[in-house]
Amino acid sequence: MTYDYLVVGAGLYGAVFAHEAKEAGKSVLVIDKRPNIAGNVYTEKIEGINVHKYGAHIFHTNNRKVWNYVNRFAEFNRFTNSPVANYHGELYSLPFNMYTFNKMWGVVTPEEAAAKIEEQKAAAGIKEPRNLEEQAISLVGTDIYEKLIKGYTEKQWGRPCTELPAFIIRRLPVRLTFDNNYFNALFQGIPIGGYTKMVANMLDGIEVRLNTDYLEDREGFDAMADRVIYTGPIDAYFNFSLGTLEYRSVRFENEVLDKPNFQGNAAVNYTDRETPWTRIIEHKWFEFGKDENGNDLPKTVISREYSSEWKPGDEPYYPVNDEKNGALYARYRELAQQEKKVVFGGRLGEYKYYDMDAVIDSALTMAEKELKA
Ligand code: UDP
Repeated sequence: MTYDYLVVGAGLYGAVFAHEAKEAGKSVLVIDKRPNIAGNVYTEKIEGINVHKYGAHIFHTNNRKVWNYVNRFAEFNRFTNSPVANYHGELYSLPFNMYTFNKMWGVVTPEEAAAKIEEQKAAAGIKEPRNLEEQAISLVGTDIYEKLIKGYTEKQWGRPCTELPAFIIRRLPVRLTFDNNYFNALFQGIPIGGYTKMVANMLDGIEVRLNTDYLEDREGFDAMADRVIYTGPIDAYFNFSLGTLEYRSVRFENEVLDKPNFQGNAAVNYTDRETPWTRIIEHKWFEFGKDENGNDLPKTVISREYSSEWKPGDEPYYPVNDEKNGALYARYRELAQQEKKVVFGGRLGEYKYYDMDAVIDSALTMAEKELKA
């Protein structure tokens, strides 16, 4: 055995564990099949702009321990996420707040907004929400559901809202105040210099091999280390022997535009069913349109996001948390528990719709347990 730990995947989960293991005096090898570290938080500089190559990531957390932890590896700016919804050219504030309700209904006071939501909820006859549609209507009423949720969600998940779990929409705040902050989080920001730099700092002094696919030579790699931390898809680990878990994938169309400002905001969600993309990210606004020296950038980079069903060869992004997939994951989980030298972690290893802070917390908790011995 050459290493105490082999970490498969150089994303957040793997990088945090690798860092902790090294701090604990263990020898660690990190491998990743991609040509780059940082998994889906990978950022690449284009025209002076940190482009979020695998989808926009805005760090936000209520967890002080996690916030202190990430601040050891990066300084964070004061970015606050306030996406704009574009429904057939009508613009609305997100998340759902008094600006949204005023634009939708002309209501001025919180009482008027609450009454309007209550009236629409009562008309829909919903008592206990059983799915995403019912949950959405009971939170914000039918009009907002129809214009700002239904089309976006069905494009995003490729499934009717009546077949999706309610918890997906409970990620979004509903507020009877004039507050456009998308997250209810104490701490929020974007790492200055990009996520790749932050992950590189976590991996400082640790051997990393890129373009290296664990599943192509599992026995060879297993023989190199006492313990394996596997952060790839759990079903792929078991050669899909129980069937494939479903994911949603995303395709990005990136464009460099020879103008300083395309949409005036980092994120614009296209919430109608007809526009084929779900959202457009204009990356420079995560960093206020400036380079690291505070200079304005003459160009801009945008990414249109198209959501699609995952098929082999695509990048898996979102686990599909419906009953069928939940049940299949539970069976893979049982197999995983029998793999004595392997720990499965992260969004793909645990088939879980993790935010970044939750994935870091989970890696830290696992590391504490694992490294105590
Ligand atoms: N959502 C929506 N309209 C929007 C934004 C989000 O209906 O304009 C719903 C949609 O179902 C989505 C969920 O809220 O899947 C969670 O959105 P979030 O922005 O948290 O998703 P992520 O950024 O993780 O893709």
